[in-house]
Amino acid sequence: MDIKQLVRKNILNLKPYSSARSEFKGEASVFIDANENPFRESYNRYPDPLQKSLKKLLSAMKSIGDDNIFLGNGSDEAIDLVFRIFCEPRVDNVIIPDPTYGMYEVCANINDVQVKKILLEEDFSLCADKILAKADNNTKAIFICTPNNPSGNLFEEKEILKILNTFHGIVVIDEAYIDFTDKDSWLTRLKQYPHMIILQTLSKAWGLAALRLGMAFASSEIIQYFNAVKYPYNINQLTQEYVIEALKNVELKDRWVGDIVSERKKITDQLLKYPFIERIYPSDANYILIKTKDANKLYNYLTSKGIIVRNRNTQSLCEGCLRITIGNNNENIKLIDALDQFI
Ligand SMILES: *Cc1c(COP(=O)(O)O)cnc(C)c1O
Repeated sequence: MDIKQLVRKNILNLKPYSSARSEFKGEASVFIDANENPFRESYNRYPDPLQKSLKKLLSAMKSIGDDNIFLGNGSDEAIDLVFRIFCEPRVDNVIIPDPTYGMYEVCANINDVQVKKILLEEDFSLCADKILAKADNNTKAIFICTPNNPSGNLFEEKEILKILNTFHGIVVIDEAYIDFTDKDSWLTRLKQYPHMIILQTLSKAWGLAALRLGMAFASSEIIQYFNAVKYPYNINQLTQEYVIEALKNVELKDRWVGDIVSERKKITDQLLKYPFIERIYPSDANYILIKTKDANKLYNYLTSKGIIVRNRNTQSLCEGCLRITIGNNNENIKLIDALDQFI
């Protein structure tokens, strides 16, 4: 597959910004190259534009090369870069399942790229043939969020494989919630699919949403384009340092994930008892989508109790639906108490 053919001409010809810190390599003691203030003792220097220490750690954790990793200001940055690198405004298009994570469409709109939406099945499963039938010569990317937000289900491997094996544009697999499943990441197949981009984030399982650190994994060729187009210092020094320390404690993250998964089961069992909840969709994520008779009424009731859930009522196939994140024990008890009193 020729990735070059998918890249916008202006990006192929781009001469990226060359920062002071990327031109110099080696040891030095006098840094008078970047117009920094020499007096403050910490955080006065620009951070590493390619986050080499952090990538070294991630490359060992994920068993991939550091040249297969892009780090962004949240995975939202990586989503935006897919459009800026591959999609010619007003010419190209992308395909996204519906309903799914909202940022794909927002980024498409910002970049003036057409979105073709393919309705998921009634149980939120994905039909590869329907997606592939919509692809044309200007379809540059297909976005697949698995487990899917807001429905919580994983898409079938067979359907995703069909898309990867048939479609000759970029296939983005968003694994923001992969830690909450017992299925393998698509990362193990990175080498087989040079047109696949896998997104993961520290915002969910790792509990670091405030730091803004998203990851994209792809062929080194794709990563080079990401690095050329991103802002030079897109990950700040505090985030780089904090994340290096946080990533050393995988056991803590795994314990949280274990707790969330067992709470998910407990809450699901409890929700089954309420007659006003018509349907609880099976979840492989840290949230549950429920269908009720009147989503707005339940939403407003919970809000009046100081409990905020996500109202998904107006999304496709989600009439009557609320999305509830699994909270901590105290939050979950408050939710159940409130639901007990709802008539
Ligand atoms: C939360 C979420 C993200 C956003 O991740 P950030 O790294 O916080 O930008 C990406 N994709 C999906 C599907 C999400 O639900």
